[in-house]
Amino acid sequence: MALLDYQLPTDGLAGNYINGAWHWPADGALLSIENPSRRTPICDIGKGGAKEVDLAVQAARAALPAWRALPASERGKLLAELGRRLADNAEQVARLLAAETGNAVKTQSRGEAMGAAGVLQYYGGVAVEQKGETLPLGEGLLSYSSREPHGVVGAIVPWNSPLQLGSVKISMALITGNCLVLKPAEDAPLALLKLAELAHGLLPPGVLNIVTGMGEEAGAALAQHEGVDKVSFTGSSEVGKLIGKATSDRIAKLTLELGGKSPTIVFPDAIADGRLDNTAQQVVNAMRFARQGQSCTAGSRLFIHADIWQQLLPQVIAKAKALKVGDALDDEVDMGAVINAERYGEICAYVAEAKQQGAEFVLGDVLEQDPQGFTPAPVIITGVDNSWRISREEVFGPVMVVIPFTSEEQVIAMANDTHYGLAAFVFSHDISRVTRVSRALDAGWIQVNQGGGQIPGMSYGGTKQSGMGSEYSIEGALEAYTYRKCITINIESQG
Ligand code: NAD
Repeated sequence: MALLDYQLPTDGLAGNYINGAWHWPADGALLSIENPSRRTPICDIGKGGAKEVDLAVQAARAALPAWRALPASERGKLLAELGRRLADNAEQVARLLAAETGNAVKTQSRGEAMGAAGVLQYYGGVAVEQKGETLPLGEGLLSYSSREPHGVVGAIVPWNSPLQLGSVKISMALITGNCLVLKPAEDAPLALLKLAELAHGLLPPGVLNIVTGMGEEAGAALAQHEGVDKVSFTGSSEVGKLIGKATSDRIAKLTLELGGKSPTIVFPDAIADGRLDNTAQQVVNAMRFARQGQSCTAGSRLFIHADIWQQLLPQVIAKAKALKVGDALDDEVDMGAVINAERYGEICAYVAEAKQQGAEFVLGDVLEQDPQGFTPAPVIITGVDNSWRISREEVFGPVMVVIPFTSEEQVIAMANDTHYGLAAFVFSHDISRVTRVSRALDAGWIQVNQGGGQIPGMSYGGTKQSGMGSEYSIEGALEAYTYRKCITINIESQG
């Protein structure tokens, strides 16, 4: 395979896009970006810190009055055009994304590049829906409300689907009239830097700023900055709590999209009438094995009704086993690599602990370091208790635990016995059961008889320690990125 089978950003290698220009950090600090599939360096980019964050916040603040005064339809047109530019460059961006994230171009990165373009275009279209209300307060009184931007938004995203999540933040902040400072993850900033290159000359300077750097430096500086009115964070619950503390003193507005340990529940009728094959496939899709399980939504706790255990589990194992694991840039490969050595080590530790506790490995085993890259094959584990760490904590790797159940009541109790509440998957064609179980589950998004991904327009967000607020929809954008201003005019007293 050719070594450079992707194209790097050009100006974007500076790492920091501030006030419509690329900035190499003054102190010359660099960040090395690696290809997790090949374990080879991709490039060095400029590493921003508190100084770059401050410059970016100042630029955003200066750009704010003109940007928020622009008609929403004009802001929407610019976002839609950015989406079009991304769609036109989707293949190039997808390959860059696969190189930096280890997410297979065939099953993940191509979809993410087009999905991100779709997000920008969706928000471009619905920008005009930033409507207010009128209130019937009585004769002679005109009372109406408008939606006002919070001001400067600081957004922080993780590496697992950086372009998609970055595009959501850019869209939601910008269409609502806010200006943005976005900090990509240190492991995977390149596709977002490429997107900023595509936005160059389109958006007014200062409206979209990017500072690339470490979480504890650039990320923390952004969350703490006095000039940031709202923080939108997607990442781990652990860091989410730090962000909450950093923003609480100045009452900055906050959205948190955090981790999950989502249950997948399969009732007996889900494999009846020739549905076994499709249900098994959807269970594997829900687990996001093809993204190495590195998805907040992953249905990583599979509850199978005892009556169908013998039929369903072998099919799920067969489907997971059939995934071709390898270099994310290889078009034949379904499943790529875990992001870095540290994450790989954490996954290994979870799996080793479960083995020590007596778990049975029905697919895969304790992960060994693969000299070709951090490329673990799917692991499916039975004989675990719902109270074990492997069943309760977010492994964020291709590791699924399978637990039998015998009653609806029992499975709901097990599914809800977690501090997470992000997503859930229910497989049944009994509509009464589906509605009953969906009502009882603690989750922000429940999918029934499918294991797909988010669609622009649906509000996505979790309960419990999976976060607060929701994104992906116009409703989410209005709730999280604007405040409601009420204006009451006494018309009679005017004359
Ligand atoms: P992470 O929390 O380690 O890092 C996320 C981002 O926060 C990165 O940009 C990082 O640089 C930054 N960061 C780290 N420490 C910081 C600090 N002290 N102050 C400010 N910023 C800091 O998460 P990760 O490992 O990159 O991503 C995986 C996690 O993200 C998983 O828990 C996953 O479930 C979650 N996630 C949630 C959603 C969702 O929509 N709910 C989507 C994708 C990923």
